Amino acid sequence: MKKNLLLTPGPTQIPPYLCAELGKPIIHHRTPQFQQAIKEVIDGLKFVMQTKNDVFLFASSGTGAMEASVCNLLSAGDKAICVEGGKFGERWTEICKAYGVMPVVIKVAWGKDVNPQELKKVLDANKDAKVVFITHCETSTGVTTNVKAVGEIVKDTNAVLVVDSISGLGVVDLKTDEWHADVVVSASHKGFMLPPGVSFVSVSPKAYKLVEACKTPRYYFDFRKAKKAIEKIDTPFTPAIGIIIALQESIKRFKTEGLDPIFNYYAKLAKGARAAAKALGLTLFPDESCMSNALTTINVPAGIDGEKVMKIMRDTYGVSVAGGQGDELKGKVIRMAHMGCVDEYDVLTGISCLEKVLKELGYQFTLGSGVAAAQKVFNE
Ligand SMILES: *Cc1c(COP(=O)(O)O)cnc(C)c1O
Repeated sequence: MKKNLLLTPGPTQIPPYLCAELGKPIIHHRTPQFQQAIKEVIDGLKFVMQTKNDVFLFASSGTGAMEASVCNLLSAGDKAICVEGGKFGERWTEICKAYGVMPVVIKVAWGKDVNPQELKKVLDANKDAKVVFITHCETSTGVTTNVKAVGEIVKDTNAVLVVDSISGLGVVDLKTDEWHADVVVSASHKGFMLPPGVSFVSVSPKAYKLVEACKTPRYYFDFRKAKKAIEKIDTPFTPAIGIIIALQESIKRFKTEGLDPIFNYYAKLAKGARAAAKALGLTLFPDESCMSNALTTINVPAGIDGEKVMKIMRDTYGVSVAGGQGDELKGKVIRMAHMGCVDEYDVLTGISCLEKVLKELGYQFTLGSGVAAAQKVFNE
């Protein structure tokens, strides 16, 4: 009868009211009923993305929409700037290489944000670069990129700014139009509290010019097909019908509660999780200046294996957090997400479980001190 509390940065917990939506009998997608769902979902996504740009839906996980952004904007031999501050930044570079695109990589130390002035220098030195790829919330490190600062620099160049906001959208503010994010990629299984299976992409007119000029062969992920279909409130192929229907309900929350209260809510959860870690005598991995409100990355104490902490939390106590990724962080951190429908009591449970496991593994601290620190933040 073990429970499984998901505090992982994707997939995230699905609240009961959305499970009920997902359990409904399927309907056909070429119907007025489903057309209404598409319309509401597209309008709702534009609201959350804070954009007037076109939004396309695909039946894929988030990476599918990342790949779509590469193969619709760039042709083999083109140059693109990839900002790499973690696993997901590296994914942009890998996808570019798969398509014969030449990546100019800006390496950012893990846990830090890209320096906009450095990006400016690289753009000045590579005036033929067609795209700049960044990651809004770098889920592997727990950093939020200053998209606004990056957008200010990219907007005055010919390059198109593409933002992976798969774990950021609906959790951390992203003013797509105001900040000049030409393409924003996201998906159903993080901030939107649903299973993986739907990805979405917003595309600006500046980006669409590249789509039309692009010579890369594409079929399913063709933005031109998606644009034609969405103009008729349709999708080119069978969409992930059940998830799109549930997405209608998930999006309602953003409209009823408003974006800023929701972003503040996650900021408070993050503040509680950080305070708890510090009260336990632990340090946080990312720089204070760019810590993400979507997840908290905690350094495990010296001499304790982070993978072991994560596995005991999950397999013995039913609390799932993520471990570290890559040579840099494997075994060294745990990542606790507070996105989607995570609430204060979930964070308290996560911290309490972390305390229990650290105690078992011999780390010295006062039991309950992390929970107390988080409670204090939540009662402010
Ligand atoms: C989860 C995540 C992805 C990957 O998405 P998949 O759905 O696994 O394809 C990409 N980028 C970021 C920042 C993520 O958090």
